[in-house]
Amino acid sequence: MIVYRTRDDLTGHLNSVRRDKNSIGLVPTMGALHRGHMSLVEKAATENDVVVVSIFVNPTQFNDPGDLESYPRSLDRDLEMLQKLEADLVFVPSIKEMYPEVDDRIYDLDPLDKVMEGIHRKGHFNGVAQIVSKLFLLTLPDRAYFGQKDFQQLVIVRRLKEILNLDIQIVACPIIREKDGLAMSSRNERLTREERKLAPYIYETLKLAREKKEEFSPSELKDWIGKRFDKIPELRLEYFEIVEDKALKSISDWNEGVNKVACLAVQLGRVRLIDNLNFD
Ligand code: AMP
Repeated sequence: MIVYRTRDDLTGHLNSVRRDKNSIGLVPTMGALHRGHMSLVEKAATENDVVVVSIFVNPTQFNDPGDLESYPRSLDRDLEMLQKLEADLVFVPSIKEMYPEVDDRIYDLDPLDKVMEGIHRKGHFNGVAQIVSKLFLLTLPDRAYFGQKDFQQLVIVRRLKEILNLDIQIVACPIIREKDGLAMSSRNERLTREERKLAPYIYETLKLAREKKEEFSPSELKDWIGKRFDKIPELRLEYFEIVEDKALKSISDWNEGVNKVACLAVQLGRVRLIDNLNFD
């Protein structure tokens, strides 16, 4: 496994990979790696000759400077974990390396960035589009791997690929969860012990909600979810939406012939958690 810190070193290596007609799989991450990230790397390793993992806490996607400051970082441990898997190249650039000058590119992601996370994290997806476009253009992978955990991001990355006109296969990977159902996230380590005990309620609620589909309309289900979270004041529900999986439009009827995904965000202490579940 080789660790590169500059764009030139990485592209130099990747040029020779391409010359040898080998395929490239890219796994973009912000580090503080866990089994969710590992599942992406493992899948990439089975489908590509060379796997590139990037580790970069991208400042332009943070709308809250405090969140950026406190985002967990554990590079040594991350590299140890990647060494045990079949990651070939790890790209760990500095902020200056990725943003030698201010990035003022604005992407037209409408309407995908006008709902859910887009409402609650202003500018977040434009920042995601900035860094993902840089990583795509730098590595020109055959395939790029993204988790369904960040479902809205996945849909937006598919759109970005169209905007950039790139021939990259976007591979969606299932959500990896803890034994008690909590979706794995780098942010989970910032939960206190008490908060950690409450967190599985989120996935439990999503599963229960799916069972209630027969009983309630989508809007009644939304009310039911609101009331269920009111019972645990520590878990502050930011939004709950059931959307179709292409334009992210909220559905109003279960009979709509579209794939449905229920998405939510919850604030628990200092930590904001997101999760989603397929509702078909
Ligand atoms: P992050 O480091 O949080 O930006 O995540 C990097 C990639 O890993 C994104 O594509 C995430 O969707 C994915 N990911 C994060 N957590 C999980 C999880 N629990 N299961 C599957 N993929 C995940």
